[in-house]
Amino acid sequence: MAECISNSSLQAVALIFTSFILWLSVVETGYVIPALLAATGTILVAGARVRNRSESHFLCKIGLHKNKQAGWDKEWQSAAIYQCERCGRTKKVIKGV
Ligand SMILES: [Zn+2]
Repeated sequence: MAECISNSSLQAVALIFTSFILWLSVVETGYVIPALLAATGTILVAGARVRNRSESHFLCKIGLHKNKQAGWDKEWQSAAIYQCERCGRTKKVIKGV
């Protein structure tokens, strides 16, 4: 539980920091520097994820799972179950009719 809280708060801090710097640089300059800073912010968020997640593969750590459909949910017929080929993590995806 504590791990979840620190993970999301780190991401929140990184996002707030990024939007603050973005706002500052839009006021001061053009668009190139904000783009660079946005990239920096994305790396910060990814870094916060890497430090707090337990998945073994690097791409899984930054949230890029290699999901493959593993079946359908028994209770919810329109929900497909996806499983990551690398770390085995599963998720449900509700599909539109
Ligand atoms: Zn994965």
